[in-house]
Amino acid sequence: MILTKKIYFYGNVVRYRSPAFPRRDTARQTALTAMNVLDSPIEYLKGVGPAKGDLLKKELGVFTQRDLLLQYPHRYIDRTQFHRIGELSEHSGEVQIRGILRRLTVAGQGRKKRLVGTFRDPSGALELVWFTGVNWIEKSLTVGMEYIVYGRVGAFGHKLNIAHPEIEPVKTENVKAEASFAPVYPSTEKLNTKGLNAKVRRRMAKQLLDKLAPTDVPENLPAYLIQKFRFPSRLQALRQIHFPKDAEELKAARNRLKFEELFFLQIRLLQIKRRRKDVVKGYVFDQIGDYFNGFYQEKLPFELTGAQKRVVKEIRRDLGLGVQMNRLLQGDVGSGKTMVGLLCMLIALDNGYQTCLMAPTEILAQQHYEGISEYVEGMDIRVEILTGSVKGKARKTILADLAEGHIHILIGTHALLEPKVVFKNLGLAITDEQHRFGVAQRAKLWAKNNPLPPHILVMTATPIPRTLAMTLYGDLDVSVIDELPPGRKEVETTHRTEHHRMRVIGFMREQIAKGRQVYVVYPLIEESETLDLKNLDEGYEALRREFPPPEYQISVVHGRMKAADKDYEMQRFVKRETQIMVATTVIEVGVNVPNASVMVIENTERFGLSQLHQLRGRVGRGAEQSYCILLSSFKLSNEGRERIQTMVRTNNGFEIAEADLKLRGPGNIEGTQQSGILNFRIADLAKDGKILKAAREIAARILDDDPKLERPEHHPIKWYLEKHGKKLKGWSRIS
Ligand code: ADP
Ligand code: MG
Repeated sequence: MILTKKIYFYGNVVRYRSPAFPRRDTARQTALTAMNVLDSPIEYLKGVGPAKGDLLKKELGVFTQRDLLLQYPHRYIDRTQFHRIGELSEHSGEVQIRGILRRLTVAGQGRKKRLVGTFRDPSGALELVWFTGVNWIEKSLTVGMEYIVYGRVGAFGHKLNIAHPEIEPVKTENVKAEASFAPVYPSTEKLNTKGLNAKVRRRMAKQLLDKLAPTDVPENLPAYLIQKFRFPSRLQALRQIHFPKDAEELKAARNRLKFEELFFLQIRLLQIKRRRKDVVKGYVFDQIGDYFNGFYQEKLPFELTGAQKRVVKEIRRDLGLGVQMNRLLQGDVGSGKTMVGLLCMLIALDNGYQTCLMAPTEILAQQHYEGISEYVEGMDIRVEILTGSVKGKARKTILADLAEGHIHILIGTHALLEPKVVFKNLGLAITDEQHRFGVAQRAKLWAKNNPLPPHILVMTATPIPRTLAMTLYGDLDVSVIDELPPGRKEVETTHRTEHHRMRVIGFMREQIAKGRQVYVVYPLIEESETLDLKNLDEGYEALRREFPPPEYQISVVHGRMKAADKDYEMQRFVKRETQIMVATTVIEVGVNVPNASVMVIENTERFGLSQLHQLRGRVGRGAEQSYCILLSSFKLSNEGRERIQTMVRTNNGFEIAEADLKLRGPGNIEGTQQSGILNFRIADLAKDGKILKAAREIAARILDDDPKLERPEHHPIKWYLEKHGKKLKGWSRIS
C-alpha cells in the first residue's frame, strides 16, 4: 500500500522499481522463509516415514530435512577401485569387491538364524553374512549373478567374511554411472540393522537434493567473495559434498563449506566482542601513580623483557579505555607472566581499586602469595591469601577486611569465588593458568563487582595453537609473551627406556652432588587412583633404596594428601632440606624452585604433550643447565613415540601445541572438551588453519567496513545470521 502511494505521489515508477527496493525485499523474504522445505520434519521426506524418521531423530539427531542435508558424508567410497578377495585380510577394513554370488543358505534357527552367502572372484572367496532381514534379502539375491559388494572385512575362525554388506548387481551401464565417489554417512549399529544402511541413506540424500531449487538454499556469502575464491554456489556445494563427480568437485565443495562454517563462527565471535565493547563499560584506570612508579623504579628486581614491556603497554591501554578488559595473556612457562600480572595489579591500586589473583591449586596460590608479598614489601600494600584451608577466625577477619577495602591484593584458589567473598571495589581480576577453570567460574568473577564488572586478565602457560585461540578465545583480546628472560639455558631433553634406569640414577646422584635438586614425576591415572598411588609408592621405595637417608632426603606430594601436608613437603623441597621431590602431576602447574635442575618423568607415554611441556617447565628456571629425562617402556605406540620425539626435538611451547593439535585433534586438547565450540560440521582446526585465518581476516574487515551488515552485498550474511544465528551459539564464553 505504502509503496503504491509513494509511486503515485512521485509519479516515478521506474525509480521505485529499480535499484534495490522491491527486489531486495523479495530476496530477504527468500532468505528468511523459503527454506521452509528444509524446515519440514524428516519423516515427510519421500521414503522416510514415521518409523525411519524416529530412528534418525534418536540415533543421529536428524529432525528436519535441513539436518539431513547438513549431515555431510564422513568419507566416500571410490567406486572405481576394486579389491581382490585373495589379497584381503581381516585388517583390510572396508573394501569394495566384485564377483559372483555362489551359494546362499539360511543357517541356524530362531534368534540365531542368519543368511550366509559365498562370494567369489578369480582370486578367492569369502562369506557374506546377514543376521537380520534374512528373508527379504534372500529373496532379493540371485545365486550365479555378478555383484558389487562393499563392507568391512571381518573374520570368523580362519574364514574372512563381511557382515551386512552393501550389495548391488553389476549392470554395465550402472557401473559407469556409479563410477565416482559414493558418500558414506555417520551411522550406528541400530541404523544399519533397521534398514537405514548406507544405501538407503544415500538414496534419501539424493531424494532431498533432487527436489531442492536455488531459492530453497539461498546464498549466504557475498557475491564478491564467491567470485574471489571461485567458490561453487551454496546449493552447488551441497550437491557436490554429497555426490561429488570427482576429487576436484569434492575439494571445491569442501573448501567452500569449511570457509562458510569458519566464517560465520568468526563473524559471530567478532560481533560478540564488538557488542561487549559497546555495551559493557569498565572502570577507567587512567592513573599511573606511586604504586606502579615506585615499584617500577625502586623494586623491580630485573629489567623487563621486550615482550613483557609490550604486553604491559597493551594492557595499560586497555585499562584506560573505559571498556571492560577481557584479555588472554599467553606465555610459555617461565616467560614471566607473574610480573606482568603484578604490574597490572599495581595500576589497579593506583586507581583506588582492589584486585585479586586466582590460581588453580593451593600450592600455586601459596607461591604467588609469598612471591608477591616479597615483591611489594615495605610498600604499604596489604596482601592476603584465601584458600579452602583458611578457616575460622582468620577467614572471618579476611572477609571483613576485604569488604571494608582494607585488603589490596587477595590471592587464592577458587575459594575466591564463593558468594561470601565480597570486595569493596574489585577493579581487576586475574586468573592464572586459566584453562583449568571452567567458563562458569569466570562468569562468577564477573559478578564479583557492582555496578561494573572488574577487568579480567586470563594468564595461561599452555600455549594454544593459533587456530584454537582464534576460536576458543575469539572474543577475547590476546597478548603473547614470546620471549624468555635472558640467560636461560634450554633444558636438555633425552628419552630413556627402562634399560637405562641405572644410568639415570647415576646422573641424579651426580647432579645432587653438585647441589642441585631433582623432580621425579609419576602419571596420574584417573580411572585408578589406587594403581596411581601404588606406582608412586613403589617408585618412592625404590628411590629410597638408591638414595638412603640420612645422606639423602625425599619429599613426596600427591593429589590425595591434605593441603597442609603437601605444603609441608613442598616447603622442605623449596628450603633444600630434601634433594628429591617425588610427585604426581600436582606440581605440574607453576611451581617455582630455581635450584631444581633435573626433571625425571616416569611412564612418559602416559602423559599428553601439553602436560609434558608443563612439567619440563619446572626446571630450567635457574642459572644452571637443566635436564629433562623422559623414561618410558621400550615398546611404544606410534603416537606415544611421536610425542616423546616432539619433546626431544623442541622446547618451543607453541610448536608443541601445534604438534599436539595434529596428533590428537582439537577435541582432545586440554580444556576444550566441554566447550561445544569445537564441534564443527566439516572444518578441522588441525588442518584448516589457513582457511580459518582467511575467514577471520575477512570477517574482521567486513565488520570494520560495515558493522551492521547494511550494505546490499552483505545482506546474505545478515539474513543468514537472522535465520540461523541463534543456533550458532555457545560462543559467548564469559557473558
Ligand atoms: P610464568 O610465565 O611461567 O608464570 P614466572 O612469572 O613464574 O613465569 O617467571 C619465571 C621466573 O622468571 C621467575 O623466577 C621470575 O622472577 C623470573 N623473571 C620474570 N621476568 C624476568 C625478567 N624480565 N628477567 C629476569 N627474570 C625474570
Ligand atoms: Mg606462572
